[in-house]
Amino acid sequence: MSSVPVPLNELKRLALLRELCILDTPPDQAFDLITRLASQVFGVPIALIALIDQERQWFKSRVGMSVQETPRDQAFCAYAILQPEVMVVPDARHDARFKDNLLVTGSPNIRFYAGAPLTSREGLNLGTLCLIDTVPHDSFGPQEHAMLLSMAAMVTMRLESLRTIGYMDATMVLPNRARLLDDLEQHSQAGTCASTSLCAVAVDLCGAEYFNDMVKALGYRYADDYLLAARDRLLSLLPPETTLYRISTTRLGFILEREDEALADLLTSIGQACAEPLWMGDIPHNARVTMGTMRLPERFSPPDVIRALVSTSDSVRQDGGDWAFYDSRQHESQRRSFQVLSALSLVLNRGGDELALHYQPKVDLRTGRCVGVEALLRWNSPTLGPVSPAEFIPLAEKTALIESITQWVMAQALQQAGIWQRQGLNLTMAFNVSALDLDRPGFANELCTLIERHAVDPHRIELEFTESALTHQPERLRQHLLRLRALGVKVAIDDFGTGYSNLTYLKTLSADALKVDQSFVRNLLEDATDQAIVPALVRLAHEIKHTVVAEGIETEAAYQALAHWGCDEGQGYWIAKPMPVLALEHWLGSEPGRWPGLHQASRLA
Ligand code: C2E
Ligand code: CA
Ligand code: CA
Repeated sequence: MSSVPVPLNELKRLALLRELCILDTPPDQAFDLITRLASQVFGVPIALIALIDQERQWFKSRVGMSVQETPRDQAFCAYAILQPEVMVVPDARHDARFKDNLLVTGSPNIRFYAGAPLTSREGLNLGTLCLIDTVPHDSFGPQEHAMLLSMAAMVTMRLESLRTIGYMDATMVLPNRARLLDDLEQHSQAGTCASTSLCAVAVDLCGAEYFNDMVKALGYRYADDYLLAARDRLLSLLPPETTLYRISTTRLGFILEREDEALADLLTSIGQACAEPLWMGDIPHNARVTMGTMRLPERFSPPDVIRALVSTSDSVRQDGGDWAFYDSRQHESQRRSFQVLSALSLVLNRGGDELALHYQPKVDLRTGRCVGVEALLRWNSPTLGPVSPAEFIPLAEKTALIESITQWVMAQALQQAGIWQRQGLNLTMAFNVSALDLDRPGFANELCTLIERHAVDPHRIELEFTESALTHQPERLRQHLLRLRALGVKVAIDDFGTGYSNLTYLKTLSADALKVDQSFVRNLLEDATDQAIVPALVRLAHEIKHTVVAEGIETEAAYQALAHWGCDEGQGYWIAKPMPVLALEHWLGSEPGRWPGLHQASRLA
């Protein structure tokens, strides 16, 4: 390497430099202020914060210098770190060490140099704060010495504080997320991203699930070693000097300057290389590496950038492929989900003041009589406007909120069922529960308590049950349904024919009714397949003693066809839309106490 002598503690010094994770990081305002101040105060054109790496000196901050690094064997600073005090070279032409140096004999024609070492608390000189001029200086006296040392002490303090602020991830020996946030912030404040085609990338090395399984099977030590191996493979695929950051357990990130096409090539080649198994102690690992990337705009919020990158790499894991550009539409929908869930949680905590139940009639297709209603949840939020249950129920089902929602719905529906029963209206009250509700041990008890409190005949209560995700506890679900049916409560399998709600359910669950999904009913008259499926479903259901309900009846013709095929009950906009209590009572066309449904019968006659 260089002919420059190295300090005695060189290995320790280089190790500390690595550990600080400071090389090849973006500009830092605090350091830039110090070099600017030094250049002004000392009246020199060049002031640098130079860090002496193994083969190079790299400038953390620079005034008056166009390059980011120079070889170590040309570096004045490589000499300055050999001594504890300031090194002054009044005129390099007369200094044996430097008179043949290319930076002296050629551009930038260095004459004067003064460098104060940056000494860590262990006493290791990491680099210097230095001043350079193209004319000699012979007046660098004790006062200047003291001033330069003070400024170098400021630099060291900043270095130390970066170290203690908690910017390091000890396991992966990488700068952590806090540091990435800070570095992104520096880029954003500099406002140069738009002109420099900077982009940021998040890389998920294996996915949290894979990592957790590995921890369970092989322990943390092994799993951490695996991550280190995956980190090294990634580093070997990146341009040299790329700084990797650790974002979370399995996710790393980096910032890089690339045009779209070159970036795409790089990520594609990383994806291909990482498709090869990674061997760790005789075990080949085939975990997928997924990446999300985005171009950094001129101004941005660093936490938003990290979130966008992480969610993009997660979607790639879900949807397949190796990498993807961040898509802002996806971001909007995540933001909306977050808003909806937070607002919903507040509403439920306040007792559900913005929620209401609407009731949609179910009629007997033979007589046209209204035999029951389905309670459907409505939410009118002052901030978000009306939010459809088709939007918020699936979100709530991913959280514990679904529990509070079902409790609220059950309480309202049972109370209303009690009122109608006392008024003499013979209606079943159906409400929707998710499979997750039935996973809950207390569910059946809660329903029994409400049935007793409102003195409702259990035969008038019906659960509509949709499987939105595979249930964790199929046996518990079955036991719950059996218990409720023993009480007399009816159970309907909702959305039959779609998703998880299929024939295996008929076998394993005990239910009373099947609700044929709207998608089979909506285009019934145009779709020959639906015309074959629906009557077959009706026959099948009848054979196993289930009632069949068709939902989504939007035309009279569909109504007639279903009635003709022997479908028992129907529901849909052509009959009636979901309505608030008063509108429903009006629609029933009956004073309280009268038998409902006559008006349906006469309308259909
Ligand atoms: P679902 O249980 O299948 O309810 C039927 C949905 O279809 C309702 O939408 C209803 O308004 C709508 N609908 C009824 N007839 C017609 C028709 O003829 N044409 C068309 N195009 N649509 C019709 P809604 O009220 O928006 O509810 C959507 C879904 O949200 C429900 O589907 C149900 O899965 C869920 N949901 C609603 N309320 C609750 C609730 O209280 N708890 C739970 N867990 N889920 C609920
Ligand atoms: Ca339903
Ligand atoms: Ca349905």
